Amino acid sequence: MLKWGSTILLALCLIVIFYTTRDEEPPAPTAGQMEIYGFDVGQGDSTFIRTKEDAILIDGGNNGKGEDVVRYLQKLGIKRLTAVIATHPDADHIGGLDTVLDAFPVDSVYAPRVTHTTETYRDFLLAVKREGVTIKSVKAGLKIPSEAARFTFLAPLTDGTQDLNSWSAVLRVEHGQDRFLFMGDAPIRTEQQLLESNTDVRADVLKLGHHGADTSS
Ligand SMILES: [Zn+2]
Repeated sequence: MLKWGSTILLALCLIVIFYTTRDEEPPAPTAGQMEIYGFDVGQGDSTFIRTKEDAILIDGGNNGKGEDVVRYLQKLGIKRLTAVIATHPDADHIGGLDTVLDAFPVDSVYAPRVTHTTETYRDFLLAVKREGVTIKSVKAGLKIPSEAARFTFLAPLTDGTQDLNSWSAVLRVEHGQDRFLFMGDAPIRTEQQLLESNTDVRADVLKLGHHGADTSS
């Protein structure tokens, strides 16, 4: 009797361990699958896209939110990021990226060609330097190489203005029949430029520009 009891107990323990592990680290997408996560970073942006081959982070929330982003990524079992996109130098987008860059090996960093004088932006640049990569300048037409999906930047189409939002990297993701548009903080000026340039902006999912504020959309 004791022997059977122990066997059942052991089996139960294994099931519990199995489910706990599964909860901690969901299985990575298989070929043909894509996952998109919107991380909760409070007032700020952080979006994560992954396929079997790609692990792409768009923005990393404000200063102090980087550790949350690192934890979210670790929970997903992420060991390496294939691309980090800093949509523009505002703190609620790049603030946490230095922490993320220090926590993971990162293959490529994408950002628009605009600088900023804040300490937050300097921290981001220093973290990129520590990573040993050079920033790829985002402009309309640039693609992130991928076998699994098509990642195309639609903006900035031209140089932005004093308003940093007008430099926002806009990313279109095409995966099979599905299309997603990530607008960063792109303002109405950028939206008008996209329409005037006849850029194909049709999408199944639109991540609204500038957190849904009335300066966009
Ligand atoms: Zn913002």
